[in-house]
Amino acid sequence: MTHMSEGERFASKAPPLNQAERDAINALFPAYIFRRSRTDEIWTTCCRKHMTMSSEDMMLVTPERNFPAVMWAPHQREQRNRWDDAPRPSVQCPLCGREVIVKELGRTGKQDNLSRYRRAVVLRWYRGALWARAYDCAKHYSRDRGYSLTDEPDCKLVGVYRFKPGLAEATTRCFWDYPFGPVVRQDGPLTKGRWNIHGPFYANAEYGAGYDVIGLDEIQKSPFRYCMAEEAEGRTDRFLQYLTACCFYPRQIEMLMKAGMGNVVIDLTDRGVKHAAVINWDEADPKKAFRLSRQDMKTFLGTNRDIRIVELYKQLKERIPLTECAEWISNGVNVKETFRMAKKWGLPPEKLMRYLMGFVGCAQYGGMSSMGSALRCWEDYLTAAEAMGYQLHHENVLLPKNLGAAHDEATAQHRERLERERRIEQERQTAQKLADQRERDLLMADTYAERKVKLEGKYSFELDGYLIRIPDSGEEILAEGRKLQHCVGGYARRHMEGKVTILFMRKVKKPDEPWLTIEMNGNRLVQIHGFRNEGMYTEKGRFAPDPREFYREFLDTWLDWLKKGSKRDEHGNPKLPRKKGAAA
Ligand SMILES: [Zn+2]
Repeated sequence: MTHMSEGERFASKAPPLNQAERDAINALFPAYIFRRSRTDEIWTTCCRKHMTMSSEDMMLVTPERNFPAVMWAPHQREQRNRWDDAPRPSVQCPLCGREVIVKELGRTGKQDNLSRYRRAVVLRWYRGALWARAYDCAKHYSRDRGYSLTDEPDCKLVGVYRFKPGLAEATTRCFWDYPFGPVVRQDGPLTKGRWNIHGPFYANAEYGAGYDVIGLDEIQKSPFRYCMAEEAEGRTDRFLQYLTACCFYPRQIEMLMKAGMGNVVIDLTDRGVKHAAVINWDEADPKKAFRLSRQDMKTFLGTNRDIRIVELYKQLKERIPLTECAEWISNGVNVKETFRMAKKWGLPPEKLMRYLMGFVGCAQYGGMSSMGSALRCWEDYLTAAEAMGYQLHHENVLLPKNLGAAHDEATAQHRERLERERRIEQERQTAQKLADQRERDLLMADTYAERKVKLEGKYSFELDGYLIRIPDSGEEILAEGRKLQHCVGGYARRHMEGKVTILFMRKVKKPDEPWLTIEMNGNRLVQIHGFRNEGMYTEKGRFAPDPREFYREFLDTWLDWLKKGSKRDEHGNPKLPRKKGAAA
């Protein structure tokens, strides 16, 4: 005998699927009738039969055996994309009565698109324990892949569970051809909010962890028969954890389910939440489990049985009638926050709750639709009131009679003050910025004065009624740009910092009137432009003549003089070579 792991050994003890269980798994899949009209054949996937219809079959029609309906029903197409409607069963199977989808062979291709996958957990009472076996199930219809139209689903065992009072055991595997893992046991009640037993379907998590449960009636043979498993199955997708809990808390679960408190059970099984402050899970008698008096228990059962009512009742040390707690819960009290705020302001929590309850549904202030929103309103009020120096140690100020009006007044005052403060701060910042700017400008003007002397020595020039001069300041460059409507203004700062050199060309008679603007790079003229850069460039060129061409003689003389070192006579006037044609 080959060596088997503990998990393998445990899994091998589980009962194999019987025919009824296999049929139940088959029923999880869509039911088809495949039809070949030409030969009068049908194949059913519900009851998995193949037959050729005789002419009697076609004539003997009863509601249960309607072969003509099957033969005449139109072929139903699969969804091509997810906006298409999925095909719905259109006729009854004449052999088993199930509603089926009709497929005409010859129009179904290779049937690859009909493959479906399901997950099933199958229960069985077997040898004194409730077994659950988890299967990855698939149905295929493709003949190319070796399947026939009437095959049973492929069922791959991926998990085995055994439940007895006081013990739950499980072994699982990620994929059906892996060995089973070690046996996991839960042999005591829930601790630290974690069950040892988990669902089996964690491979292919993109399909989710849900599964169908088969064999719920087997539970009736088990000690868990009073746990209302059928109802629970519809409410949890963690049914295996539910059965685990039943091993330890069968009577408590029964009690809670019968009391209509399934939520509390699902909290325990799905999230490991015990509500330990109010439920004693060692007691199955409701009065003892909830530690409530007979009268309180009766009162509680008269409410909507929300467990938070008892929790609040206990948290308030039973000082407040349970009915009032129920009223607060149903009016959306935010228990945690209300307790926190009550503590912060030195109020008994029940006093604050009663106060807040007084404003719920107050028609004038629609915001207070619940105690939770009344609390937020009160918190807003306090924030504003604190900032405005209200006398909050007076109770009538801390808990104003008309919270809505007090809130609006305090927050309006507060907002006004915040806005005033913000305005003042903005003004201060603006003034500071201006002062900083002025300081920088002054500093720059100082440095520029030095630079300007150098620029004048190098560039300033006068000839034939024209002159070149140096800008006095950044403002003058900005003014030039504005007047001439070109972009030299953008160069003002860089000129002042010495990163570029901007010069003005003027008529001698009007040395201060903006006319032409020059950018220099050493001795090289980078650009020269006048009003609107000579009227914008267009496809036809510019509208005014290019000043570089128009004043070529003047500009070339100046540039030539520059290149030769900007020589000047004793009066500071440029020394120029004699003009051609001039008398020697
Ligand atoms: Zn059938």
